[in-house]
Amino acid sequence: MGGGDHCAVLGCNNDRRYPERYVIKEHVNTLRFHSCRDKKYFPLWTRLIQRKDFRVKASTTVCSNHFKYGQPYPDELHPSLFLRGYDLPETPKRAPVKRRALDVTTPQPKKIRTLPYRSIGIQVNPGDIDDVKLKALENDHNYVHLPFRNKPVSPVYVAHLEDELAKLTDNCGELRRNLLEAKSNIDRLKLEAQAKTKQRFSIRDICHSNELIKLYTGLPRYQLFEWLFEEIKPHTKNMHYYKGKRSAEDKAYQLKNSDKPGRKRSQALEDELLMTLMKLRLNLREDDLAFRFGVSQSTVSQVISTWLPLVDRELT
Ligand SMILES: [Zn+2]
Repeated sequence: MGGGDHCAVLGCNNDRRYPERYVIKEHVNTLRFHSCRDKKYFPLWTRLIQRKDFRVKASTTVCSNHFKYGQPYPDELHPSLFLRGYDLPETPKRAPVKRRALDVTTPQPKKIRTLPYRSIGIQVNPGDIDDVKLKALENDHNYVHLPFRNKPVSPVYVAHLEDELAKLTDNCGELRRNLLEAKSNIDRLKLEAQAKTKQRFSIRDICHSNELIKLYTGLPRYQLFEWLFEEIKPHTKNMHYYKGKRSAEDKAYQLKNSDKPGRKRSQALEDELLMTLMKLRLNLREDDLAFRFGVSQSTVSQVISTWLPLVDRELT
């Protein structure tokens, strides 16, 4: 023995080659074979397994039955259960359960000595009995009184997992918030890009031609448009900064800005005046103007209802 297929623990016949013969203890989910990962524990495992003339090496395996949690856990790396075989009625033919006589001066629970054991002749230096080993020996045989009914998992390990879970949940929440923010940014940028790439009708398209000025605004010359704009411009500041107006029409505009007073309008003020004059001159529909100026129909409606009273006041 000593190869990787057969469990190294004396009295345990679990062998990888014969899974149908596995003896699987109650605390084990899936029976596997574990080797000692760290060379420095070879002597400890050798002492724990304590078979005559046997030394643990890299290829030595111990089956899940002998680990407190069914496998090595960070705080339970070493085999500690059934290290002298199984005390089961279905394996009566096996050699009597062997255990090495320990230094009787070492404090131990009495029940350990109530179980059958006999020395296999290994001399143990009491100084070798470190904490891990004591713990292992304590666990040894506890199964007789405390069977693992609910497949226990190390509380330390559970706490660690809960910690990890809490951290991951936090991260997840943050990522979700970031995602939502990014999505809303994308939407905003899309709208901005759309607004920027739209072909817009503008006063700049017609300012060079008095004919076009007259066609669209009814004013004879561009200079007159400029004059009108300069006259009205001071009043528009009030509109922008939501400082209260008297007319009923302004309420629509105030509503528009109520969310974010002072928001910069995407449309140049000259074009708002142009839009208003085009409405007066050509009586274009709002959806038509919206299409030409590349704005929404509600913007057209708000612009016109805002500018009409001002234009009206200047022109009459
Ligand atoms: Zn085993």
